[in-house]
Amino acid sequence: MRQSQLFTKTRREAPKDEVAKNAQLLIRAGYIYKEMAGVYAYLPLGLRVLNKIIGVIREEMNAIGGQEVTLTALQQKETWEPTDQWDDAKVDVWFKTQLKNGTELGLSVTHEAALTKLMKDFISSYRNLPAYVYQFQTKFRNEVRAKSGIMRSREFIMKDLYSFSKNPAEHEAFYEKAKQAYVRIFDRLGLGGTTYLTFASGGMFSKFSHEFQTVTDAGEDLIYVHEGKRIAVNKEVLNDEVLKELGVKREELVEKKAVEVGNIFSLGTRFSDALGLTYKDAEGKPQATVMGSYGIGPGRVMGTIVETRSDDKGIIWPESIAPFAVHLIALFDEQGTVKKAADDLYEKLTKQGIEVLYDDRDAGAGEKFGDSDLIGIPKRYIVSEKTLAKGEIEVKDRLTGKVEMIAFL
Ligand code: ATP
Ligand code: MG
Repeated sequence: MRQSQLFTKTRREAPKDEVAKNAQLLIRAGYIYKEMAGVYAYLPLGLRVLNKIIGVIREEMNAIGGQEVTLTALQQKETWEPTDQWDDAKVDVWFKTQLKNGTELGLSVTHEAALTKLMKDFISSYRNLPAYVYQFQTKFRNEVRAKSGIMRSREFIMKDLYSFSKNPAEHEAFYEKAKQAYVRIFDRLGLGGTTYLTFASGGMFSKFSHEFQTVTDAGEDLIYVHEGKRIAVNKEVLNDEVLKELGVKREELVEKKAVEVGNIFSLGTRFSDALGLTYKDAEGKPQATVMGSYGIGPGRVMGTIVETRSDDKGIIWPESIAPFAVHLIALFDEQGTVKKAADDLYEKLTKQGIEVLYDDRDAGAGEKFGDSDLIGIPKRYIVSEKTLAKGEIEVKDRLTGKVEMIAFL
């Protein structure tokens, strides 16, 4: 893409009311637009990153047998009443609305009840199980505090997968697989080193649920990290019995601020019982379906990456999700020689399938480098009179700042 054609521009200042570092940098670099507190639009650069994060998650969900769907944002009361999730006193983040005829509707907060109801059309026999169904879909939550930029939005995309299994053993086996898939996802997204498998309360259905918590000062949670075992415990289960079970001592744990980038938990038969999702076993006897829920917020992940991978100049994307692989910067001369060479190089790289953002704007070196640091593409190719004279391109790594010269391609 030619930067001269990109409609977004970088800006020196973030909006005054924006307090989160992730949103400040993303707005200044032209990745997102703030519609209002906790509500952000994704611009061309931002959408590229978001879609790459979604792509990584999708590959890993498909690899464990997930089948992708899109459920609806408009939800009816009848779906959520049987599980007692419609009442605002029970679920206090609903945005509610109504049809012209007065019928109450809600904007999707989550989707486990909706999917359970849908699956009743398809699950009747043990032959229909197990089933693993997921989506990337917008959730609306009337969050009280929305001060963490895109890490806590009032409208955000969630990847939510729900598992439907015949019995607890089959459920457990998939739960383990999903856990490993999550580890791979956060590794691939560049968060492996700072993300901990965190033991949390399992509610009524299992001893623990698991959160994937990334350590950052921008996080709103407190976790207790065991560096040796690379696990953590969250506040609600920090007690002697749990520590003993995990084989760790209180004094080995370090309290850290963190953000929950994903979570997995067993739902047992709460939803299938309430909504009547049963199946007939081989003897023809009705059985309850055992369910699990597996969430990740791609926007929250993106915000977390910005929080944990940025410096005073801007963002430093990991290669796997950078909007472009290469930022090609041409420092034009008056004769147009550099422009010609850079245009050719841009065509050549693009033909090779390399994603290039080409700064072909009529702007000075200072402005181009400053914008490039802010935008944070991992590799920068610089073409100037000087490098051309030697038949070379200067390649700079955004993370390490290391510079090397390569032969002009
Ligand atoms: P939190 O305790 O931080 O509010 P949650 O327990 O409400 O999170 P879930 O309902 O389990 O989160 O949602 C699954 C995933 O969706 C979370 O792990 C997180 O990555 C993401 N998520 C949740 N709320 C938001 C939000 N307001 N904005 C962006 N992502 C979110
Ligand atoms: Mg929440």
